[in-house]
Amino acid sequence: MSNSIIWFRRDLRLADNPALIAAAAGGDVTPLFVLDPLFLSRSGAPRLAFLFRNLRALNESMGGALVVRSGDPVLVVAQVASEVAAKCVYIGKDFAPYGQRRDSAVGEALDRVGVVLVSKGSPYAVDPGTVRKADGTPYAVFTPFSKVWIATGWEAPQLAPLVRWRGAPEVASEKIPEDPILTAELPESGELAAAKMWSRFRDTALDAYRDNRNSPGVAGTSMLSPHLRFGVVHPRQLLADLGDSPSHATFRSELGWRDFYADVLFNQPRTAWQNLQTKMDKITLDTDANAIKLFAAWCAGRTGYPIVDAGIRQMLATGWMHNRVRMIVASFLVKDLHLPWQWGARFFMQHLVDGDIASNNHGWQWTAGTGTDASPYFRIFNPTSQGEKFDRDGVYIRLWVSELRDAPAHSIHAPWLADSGRGTASLFGNYTAPIVDHAVERAESLARYKLVSSKQSLSLYDTDA
Ligand code: FAD
Repeated sequence: MSNSIIWFRRDLRLADNPALIAAAAGGDVTPLFVLDPLFLSRSGAPRLAFLFRNLRALNESMGGALVVRSGDPVLVVAQVASEVAAKCVYIGKDFAPYGQRRDSAVGEALDRVGVVLVSKGSPYAVDPGTVRKADGTPYAVFTPFSKVWIATGWEAPQLAPLVRWRGAPEVASEKIPEDPILTAELPESGELAAAKMWSRFRDTALDAYRDNRNSPGVAGTSMLSPHLRFGVVHPRQLLADLGDSPSHATFRSELGWRDFYADVLFNQPRTAWQNLQTKMDKITLDTDANAIKLFAAWCAGRTGYPIVDAGIRQMLATGWMHNRVRMIVASFLVKDLHLPWQWGARFFMQHLVDGDIASNNHGWQWTAGTGTDASPYFRIFNPTSQGEKFDRDGVYIRLWVSELRDAPAHSIHAPWLADSGRGTASLFGNYTAPIVDHAVERAESLARYKLVSSKQSLSLYDTDA
């Protein structure tokens, strides 16, 4: 029997945690969380508060044993290992580019002091790098990936192990930081709350998921992405409850997208910030002073397009945005404002509680037409008709755009039409006029995309075959 450390990162739970199960089998376990200054500096208030709350819940569930330390993990993990004379440090494997670099540096630092870094499990149902075509190469198209992903399958979830904790206060720990000031409520934190959220969604909304998942004004999705991001719940625990109905299959498929994007990023780490389809590097993008001004309006939720502004304001307040609205907001940045998708992706990563480099940056690339299953260049979301289609009565817009709270449904998606002829006096208080004309920018976008695609088709670098 020997002491070990479980270094929690994207697995803030006790149940169904392979790294913890392995650590508990060996002897006393020191539970460690490292507050990495890089993560802290890049995260907005809701994301930080959600992390801190989940750390508090985790700490409580282990009787206050969690050891929290700030600093560079390369130094901190080796330091704690020497303090508690650990022989092994257990982790859930991180497949993203930064996590891989960090873990390899931590592994080397531990090796120098005779401690082994052991990875067990990962945040995914199927580890990136596992799903392969018959010839051993990775997939870059979702549909064939998902068939093999389902056939590969996943283990049944496991219960929390019995653990002999050897942590705080015997081992020195910092206090979990206080929450930053928030302007809206966050989802409930902690493993038990996540399990309750899932049961509630499973029992009341899952059967209608296929019909409701595109309506931001309806509570039609699980809203569990923040919990999945921090590993408060594992996808295995959700997948285990799914049956074969169309709604269940759609939900399973959405979890498949999460694994798919992680797999694509693992196979091509450069695509975190570079176009997957390199031919799209040639498209003309705006980055001048006017572009920066337009970007600032987009970031503030002041574009004058209600569904776009509602989405940004929802994210700034709560750290979450509905999937349909993420697509509309992202399309607006790329195809109406002609800005680099990376600007929007970086802003999302800072503010989304569920901010995940693979799902986020490939979600952006999908919308920009530079990534996997890229939306064809001629498919440009019209923010007005998207609003009319998916938030017909304006329930979602009214919730987040206070200036339009009293706007009638027939004006809420294009308030500038109701204002026309009224000079500067808007019917809707100080709600901003549209910063660009969608019809004009749509034509501009098409012209720019056509220039890139004129010599070569925009086909994917891989096909469904
Ligand atoms: P549900 O509909 O309940 O789906 C269940 C789970 O499936 C989600 O929690 C999520 O883990 C996964 N999922 C669903 N849709 C997708 C998808 N399109 N891609 C990958 N996984 C999916 N998701 C993130 O988790 N983190 C991000 O940083 C992120 N950024 C995005 C950026 C853009 C531009 C776009 C278009 C999508 C992004 N998504 C991201 C995917 C998706 O919007 C969110 O996962 C979803 O809105 C979360 O809400 P939910 O938990 O209610 O989802």
